[in-house]
Amino acid sequence: MAGRRSLKRHAPVIDLIGGNVCLDFINTLDDRPAEKQTELLNDYSDLACFGEQTGILTPAQTDALLDKAAAMPRDADDALRRARRLREALYEIFSALMNHKAVPPAAMETLNRHVHDAALHSHLVQTKESCEWRFDDLTSSFEGMLWPISRAAVALLTSADVALVRTCSSPTCQWFFLDTSKNHRRRWCDMTKCGNRAKVRNFYARKRSAI
Ligand SMILES: [Zn+2]
Repeated sequence: MAGRRSLKRHAPVIDLIGGNVCLDFINTLDDRPAEKQTELLNDYSDLACFGEQTGILTPAQTDALLDKAAAMPRDADDALRRARRLREALYEIFSALMNHKAVPPAAMETLNRHVHDAALHSHLVQTKESCEWRFDDLTSSFEGMLWPISRAAVALLTSADVALVRTCSSPTCQWFFLDTSKNHRRRWCDMTKCGNRAKVRNFYARKRSAI
């Protein structure tokens, strides 16, 4: 259609190393410690593709949302802005807890708003043996993929696992992840990336000091 932006599904937005979708979501602002951070959610298609990559959205749901976003770009952009605000609120909340500091009230308020929204778009259905708390059609709102993210954040924040949230030891990375390793001593987002770089650095440092 003339004048419509065409939004397409595209390659994965990030490496999913977080171990929890809300931590992967935090990592969509890359290079946090750097002066110039790298935004990975640049338009609504990035957000929808993140939803698909994390398994929240099916490919068909992603296509449906992208079609809607092309028809209603302003609404989609508003949803993207709210998504980024939720992401930064999650960043502030998990950072505060990790550093044993008080959570900024505004961040908590933002998450609470999204949690309420997720509850408003949920309903109980009977399953074979019990009942299940299910979300409404995730394509009924541009923010549908944020409902499971908010709920995952609440589940993590209210569980003992919250003590296992870490950031990558690389000072230039600091991606968030859930340390489910046996000894809880995981240091890197990904051993083959940050871990390896650090190993190589240490190797050359040792070599230099040996000269
Ligand atoms: Zn890293």
